[in-house]
Amino acid sequence: MANSRDDYDVAVIGAGPSGIAAACVAAESGRRVALLESTLSPGGPIWRSRSGPIPRVAHRWLDRLENSSVSVFDRTTAFAAPDRRLLLAEHPDGVMEIGCEKLILATGVQELFLPFPGWTLPNVTGAGALQALSKSGWPIEGKRVVVAGSGPLLIAAASYLRRHGAKIVCIAEQAGMMKLAKFTLALTYLAPSKLIQAVGLQRDLFGVRYKTGCWPVAAHGEDCVESVTLSNGKSEWTQECDYLACAFRLIPNLQWPGLLRCRIEHGQVQVDSLQETSISGVFCAGDATGIAGSDAALIEGRIAGHAAGGQPEKAKRLFAARRRTRRFAEGMARAFALRDELKGLAAEDTIVCRCEDVTHGRIAEHDTLRSAKLQTRCGMGPCQGRTCLGSLQLLYGWTNDSARPPVLPTRVESLSG
Ligand SMILES: Cc1cc2nc3c(=O)[nH]c(=O)nc-3n(C[C@H](O)[C@H](O)[C@H](O)COP(=O)(O)OP(=O)(O)OC[C@H]3O[C@@H](n4cnc5c(N)ncnc54)[C@H](O)[C@@H]3O)c2cc1C
Repeated sequence: MANSRDDYDVAVIGAGPSGIAAACVAAESGRRVALLESTLSPGGPIWRSRSGPIPRVAHRWLDRLENSSVSVFDRTTAFAAPDRRLLLAEHPDGVMEIGCEKLILATGVQELFLPFPGWTLPNVTGAGALQALSKSGWPIEGKRVVVAGSGPLLIAAASYLRRHGAKIVCIAEQAGMMKLAKFTLALTYLAPSKLIQAVGLQRDLFGVRYKTGCWPVAAHGEDCVESVTLSNGKSEWTQECDYLACAFRLIPNLQWPGLLRCRIEHGQVQVDSLQETSISGVFCAGDATGIAGSDAALIEGRIAGHAAGGQPEKAKRLFAARRRTRRFAEGMARAFALRDELKGLAAEDTIVCRCEDVTHGRIAEHDTLRSAKLQTRCGMGPCQGRTCLGSLQLLYGWTNDSARPPVLPTRVESLSG
């Protein structure tokens, strides 16, 4: 397997909105920039498909990237760093070594899956995942979908699926009505554009039942999901469906910050005003520093790109805009905080780690994540904990104190090359 090495002033891992913005502005300051993206094309989960409906701002940034001097490596997963200035990345033809003076981590988020009886049945999916499947051609027309969990992603996914022919039976939002009303009111001054966006999405969902203070407790079916039991804490009822699309929360991808020993608190990478982490020369931008959405990701990416490109004065001009987006993020975190009931949904025999078939009952016997991993192999299967680690942390209150290369699943040849 061929190895190649290239040296850059700045390397950016992740080509979502924050990574694209960081790479563009660093390159525009005259730096040699590499942008690594593990999927087929830049954009992250929201801007990936140029053929689909993406906002004008996405086209602007994707054009800016195309017309820049940034070396974009798609289908390239950064998986290890022998030292802070050298990355190893796997691409279809082999392993690349990327030397860099400055590194920007823009690795974004993934969906949090919460285990409940029946959650491993076929057609129980992440809400973002079902949206992504539909974007790539999966037939959803006429299918009855229950969308459940929490946060704006529920409405975004439901609206997309409905526009593509799905019959949204019901949206079950676990947050209570009062919290949502307060958040909606706060949007009028924190982020009026988000309010307008939300009103548009609600219009798409006219006639769909939106139930607040309501969550799934079990999915049922023989070969795939046929119905879901929902609860509002007082009563339970069962709803027939062809798909159950769940989105409880987005959680930052912390594998890279963990590997480099960047300071992480409350599940977020800690950064200074220039988005520099506790490790000198390593910056972090976007949702990995706290879930705040694509507007915040763009601003933070620009700040990190200017700072890594040696233009901190340009970065400082964006501080006020970042403060506004952070206030929005704090409001969102408060409004959609997960209720305790969701931590108690798994039964003894509910599978929590679906790669290794490890049940809640077996995991709950342990006091630490390390002990549970060593004794049960939970989080150690092919997905390397990407699916269950978030729920292990939330359900049992454990912290993940180990990040080792490869940070993402990698071919054996890449490790030995
Ligand atoms: C499934 C899903 C659906 C979403 N849908 C919506 C929506 O409909 N509306 C909305 O407003 N927001 C949505 N979001 C949230 C939105 O994507 C983020 O708030 C925003 O895009 C954050 O941007 P970012 O640049 O921080 O990270 P992201 O956009 O998450 O981009 C991170 C990128 O890094 C790449 N990456 C990660 N690790 C590596 C690695 N080791 N090597 C190479 N590349 C790597 C990933 O492939 C990804 O492309 C969704 C998020 C998810 C996970």
